[in-house]
Amino acid sequence: MFLRFYFTLVHVIASVYNSANNLFRGFYLKKTIRISKTDALIIEDVQKDFCPGGALPVSEGDQVIPALNDYLKIFEKANAEIFATRDWHPPNHISFKAQGGLWPPHCVQNTEGAKFHPALKLPRSTKVVSKAMNPLKENYSSFDGAELSNILKKQGVTRVFVGGLATDYCVKCTVIDALKLGFKAVLLSDAIRGINVGPNDAETAIAEMIKNGAEQVTLDNFPEPLDPSLSKDSETEVLAEKPLARVAIKKKARMRPRGRYKRIRAEK
Ligand SMILES: [Zn+2]
Repeated sequence: MFLRFYFTLVHVIASVYNSANNLFRGFYLKKTIRISKTDALIIEDVQKDFCPGGALPVSEGDQVIPALNDYLKIFEKANAEIFATRDWHPPNHISFKAQGGLWPPHCVQNTEGAKFHPALKLPRSTKVVSKAMNPLKENYSSFDGAELSNILKKQGVTRVFVGGLATDYCVKCTVIDALKLGFKAVLLSDAIRGINVGPNDAETAIAEMIKNGAEQVTLDNFPEPLDPSLSKDSETEVLAEKPLARVAIKKKARMRPRGRYKRIRAEK
């Protein structure tokens, strides 16, 4: 009788222990990400030409925008650096078919197609990185040229989160370059889409980023409930009319021509 009671007790204790352990592991395995000032968000090329209706549309390219808007809120709330990159080609860029390149003309400087998609709610503090401006050079990575890397390092950023377009070109090259430069790189898997010139290009690109050391997360990894008030009025169009005032790059900016955004050259 006593022995039976003893075994039952042991059994109960063991199951309670196991459930607690599983519960703990459940929490532990779903990694929770908290954003701080040592993190930066890099949004790749969410421009009209890369979205449906544009000159070089990525299938469902505009579908990255809702998730990116949520990420923007998270990073803005944490006062973390936010960068939006853009393909910013001269009209005779080497990547265009007329010059022997792969692509139809797209994202030509100061054209409608080169604008950020109007649904993307870039906050006032966004820094714009323009790339592939040299007519003779293709450039998929936002780290080409040292400027972005230097700014990130100066700000003490150690980890970058990358989303946008397209998975198999600019996202991939930017993530891999970030890793090479010593940053931790995190791919926002719910905020990317690929061009898929070959049918599995986007998948292959993701595998390559992971192999190089990138981590993958989705909005589920971010615990905080989002404050809807932060995103109510988009500054995108307003922002386009006036230069931004950010202390960190103010000195440098004075030496450059004034533009609609604080521009950062990613190409030399
Ligand atoms: Zn391009």
